[in-house]
Amino acid sequence: MRRTIVIEVENRPGELARIVGLFAARSVNIDTLIVAEPSAGNISSITVTTHADDHTTEQIVRLLDKQVRVVSARELFTHHNQERITMHAVYDKDIDPRALAGKTIAVIGYGSQGHAHANNLKESGCKVVVGLRADSPSRAKAAAAGLPVRTAAEATRIADVVMMLVPDELAPRVYGEEVAPNLRAGSALAFAHGFAVHFKKIVPPENVDVFMVAPKGPGHLVRQEFARGRGVPCLVAVERDRSGTARATALAYAAAIGGGRAGILETTFKEETETDLFGEQAVLCGGLTALIQTGFETLVEAGYAPEMAYFECMHEMKLIVDLLYEGGLSKMRHSISNTAEYGDLTRGPRVINAATRSEMQRLLADIQSGKFADEWMAECEAGKPSFTKLENEAARHPIEEVGKRLRSMMPWLNAEETAETRQEVVHVVR
Ligand code: NAD
Ligand code: MG
Repeated sequence: MRRTIVIEVENRPGELARIVGLFAARSVNIDTLIVAEPSAGNISSITVTTHADDHTTEQIVRLLDKQVRVVSARELFTHHNQERITMHAVYDKDIDPRALAGKTIAVIGYGSQGHAHANNLKESGCKVVVGLRADSPSRAKAAAAGLPVRTAAEATRIADVVMMLVPDELAPRVYGEEVAPNLRAGSALAFAHGFAVHFKKIVPPENVDVFMVAPKGPGHLVRQEFARGRGVPCLVAVERDRSGTARATALAYAAAIGGGRAGILETTFKEETETDLFGEQAVLCGGLTALIQTGFETLVEAGYAPEMAYFECMHEMKLIVDLLYEGGLSKMRHSISNTAEYGDLTRGPRVINAATRSEMQRLLADIQSGKFADEWMAECEAGKPSFTKLENEAARHPIEEVGKRLRSMMPWLNAEETAETRQEVVHVVR
């Protein structure tokens, strides 16, 4: 079995050699070894993967841990390869909408998810009130949609279900100041992401139900699909069932926003939060942007035109992703040329290799331990200094400049257009 050992060590000359020597002395072959940049405290994180057996791994970890300059040594994921039962989808026919009958639902926030939930719930016959700041620019939009608008505090006071749809980093404050003091005993507190509750940034009182309804799609799609008589799949989880009816309420809520038309999967706050963070860090956002940017830089540094590099590494991404979305890896591989497919199959694993896998495991470990959540909350409390700096730096990257120029040659990409019209235009152009 493949093992991953993570060692945190003082960043001093000789430490790496000592660690490697420990493996060599036990005739353990090191498959991969990554040394991460030292942290502020001058601690380096070293990740080693091997195929050593249980006993040897345990011995090595224990010996490492004892070394003076080693802060900690541990093996990651000793419980992997666990058997898991397939998730069963729940549909409208299995759900009783009466679980929401007579209940008032406060939707706190009217952004991406908020507007979709509030309008879908209303059209499903639910009593909805939107909770927004007195000076919120979203007030007019919600009112124009025919929704009653109150402050979050007032909305909470009259609600049987309070759905928190403010940005995750603001949720603890909005909850503490406006929701918590007005939350009625016996009501339900709901979320569209498990972050705040799972990492205990929000600790709900004992006298309420706590559940999650998380659509697996952005708000505009949740709204658009519902209006077309369809829905976006949802995840549902119950963190606390004080009333004995939390699951029924959660399922009825998910159905009322259209989830039961597409399929509802049941999970836990822990699983939803950790997989969601991992997905966005390693694959969807972090992994993807780093892949695109590094590919672009490699071509430009080798002397190729930035315009060519942009088309190859960024623009064409959408065409590939559309195929993946429609029919998985096979459909994409079926559509590309044989040359492209051969390059894909033989070269892909060289780019995303064992070292990448180890790094992904470390990202996951930081998510599971709460280290990432604490770092992000501390960053927010400090006014997001690194976040803003990184965001600004990234916006100045040459790929963004060349991209802006090239996209102006593609009138159908106008950001003001809706995804719908954009698709129609692309269709016409083809
Ligand atoms: P958003 O940034 O689009 O909207 C946030 C809303 O909160 C805005 O209307 C803002 O005006 C309002 N708000 C800010 N401060 C407030 C306050 N003090 N009182 C009341 N309202 C306030 O956020 P979003 O993307 O809809 O995310 C909401 C939740 O949904 C998060 O938990 C997120 O993780 C989850 N979620 C989002 C998506 C998505 O695609 N955007 C998908 C699934 C789950
Ligand atoms: Mg996510």
